[in-house]
Amino acid sequence: MRDFSRDRSMLALNTATLGHNVDGHGAGWSPERVIDACAERDFGAITFWRREIGDRADAIGRAVRSAGMEVSGLCRSPFLTGPLAPRTARAVRDDFEAAIDMAAALGAPVLTIVVGGVVEGSRSIGESLLRVADHLAEALPYARKAGVALALEPLNPVYAGDRSCLVTVRDAVDLCERIGAPELQIAVDVYHVWWDLSLERELARAGAGRIAGFHLCDWLARTTDVLLDRGMMGDGVADLKGLRAIVEGVGYAGYCEVEIFSAADWWRRDPEEVLDTVVERFHGVC
Ligand code: ZN
Repeated sequence: MRDFSRDRSMLALNTATLGHNVDGHGAGWSPERVIDACAERDFGAITFWRREIGDRADAIGRAVRSAGMEVSGLCRSPFLTGPLAPRTARAVRDDFEAAIDMAAALGAPVLTIVVGGVVEGSRSIGESLLRVADHLAEALPYARKAGVALALEPLNPVYAGDRSCLVTVRDAVDLCERIGAPELQIAVDVYHVWWDLSLERELARAGAGRIAGFHLCDWLARTTDVLLDRGMMGDGVADLKGLRAIVEGVGYAGYCEVEIFSAADWWRRDPEEVLDTVVERFHGVC
């Protein structure tokens, strides 16, 4: 397992940690200010959200690289199915392609896919995943041409209704195998997989080449909101070192990306304090 007790070259910030994924939250720093603050602290990379980028993908990507870092990814695809997805298949496709274009312009190697909830009226996870597979198969040639990998992120099962009918790494590996494209990969997020005793087996089945990212936060034992009350690493009950050992044991050697949605706590604090705490906890407990 890699030793991160002093090294932060593989530490990445997901800007959701500063509340930049939801309107009306966070301190509202510009991408340039985030880039400077991360560079000052020797982060290795940054993952942005589309709403921060607008039509400035080129410039922001260049600013990250000239500060000595990489863009680790872009969040995220539209929901492909379920009640929060765009209303027509055409609208899903157009927005999916716009997200891929933005990732390419930013120089992000990977776009996170949050697949969306159970298809309305179907009441079937299996059927919904087949619909997801159709959307992915349609988008993959476009992603391949753009040089962007698509990272399926299975979400905690509490979101199956509206945000993600993909709830286990097992089902993500099955989707990858069914579709069989190397650009279709998997993002492993502590918040969504910390409870899963089959993680090691399923990641071994996936193979290191399919693991596109490893996301850090913590699961608070007495969480008050399953969407916006993630914990800072070390404040919860997830076995962070154990999970990293599993992911790296399979061969993953990429970034550890800190992604903390925390409307009532960390998003209300000074981003400088948040970033300093991220660095300290990364060295100490991850
Ligand atoms: Zn994540």
